[in-house]
Amino acid sequence: MTQRLHILFITFMLLLAACAPSPPPASEAQTVVQEPSDTPVPTVVPPTHTALPEPANTAGPTDVPMAEATQTPPAANGATATPLPTGTAAPTPAPKIVCDGTPTPAQAEGPYYTPNTPERADLVEAGMGGTQILVTGKVLNQACEPIAGAKLDFWQTDANGEYDNVGYRMRGHQFTDENGNYVLETVLPGVYPGRPPHIHVKVNAPGGPVLTTQIYFEGQPGNENDGLVQPSLIVPLTDAADGGKAAAFNFVLPN
Ligand code: FE
Repeated sequence: MTQRLHILFITFMLLLAACAPSPPPASEAQTVVQEPSDTPVPTVVPPTHTALPEPANTAGPTDVPMAEATQTPPAANGATATPLPTGTAAPTPAPKIVCDGTPTPAQAEGPYYTPNTPERADLVEAGMGGTQILVTGKVLNQACEPIAGAKLDFWQTDANGEYDNVGYRMRGHQFTDENGNYVLETVLPGVYPGRPPHIHVKVNAPGGPVLTTQIYFEGQPGNENDGLVQPSLIVPLTDAADGGKAAAFNFVLPN
């Protein structure tokens, strides 16, 4: 009896051993172990972390000055936004109307007037030397009212003190606009023997009187020694934004 039990036990154990799963081959076991060790997780993660948009986040707010950010909202209102730009780029103020009803003094025409000048407000030509000046102002009557359509005929020397008595260099005429304004672009005249820098002009109201006179510039050599210079005809020169000079003068025509 015990011998049968022993045989059954041995048989059972053999069956158990036959049914147990066989272990994987050594090569398979190695590849499973090596795969995780070939992908070094700790060294891959840090680069992707530092590539996050950290720099972009810090650069954004610090690049925008607070002043610009606060200037933007007022611009939504067109009317109230104007004070901001004018603080940094104020327009050149219009020349003041200096007029007490006294006519501008007349001056000698001199020997160098040439009639039939071209109509132009800009006497500056390419390659012309000297200090460029912008002369602006109005033509008024003795009631200090602007005269529209008044003719202004200018002539002067170039920066070297030379007149063009053959052609029309540094000569030209123009007409005032509806508000009596004129604008002359030219160069500061030079000195010629016996005269300080000056610009000649004939001012002619439509159907009205003609004023012939000259204007001079503050601080120029010879102003004190010239018998024709009058204080009311001396024009201050101011610095213009383009590096040149600016001057303003109103002509008051006699009745
Ligand atoms: Fe002259």
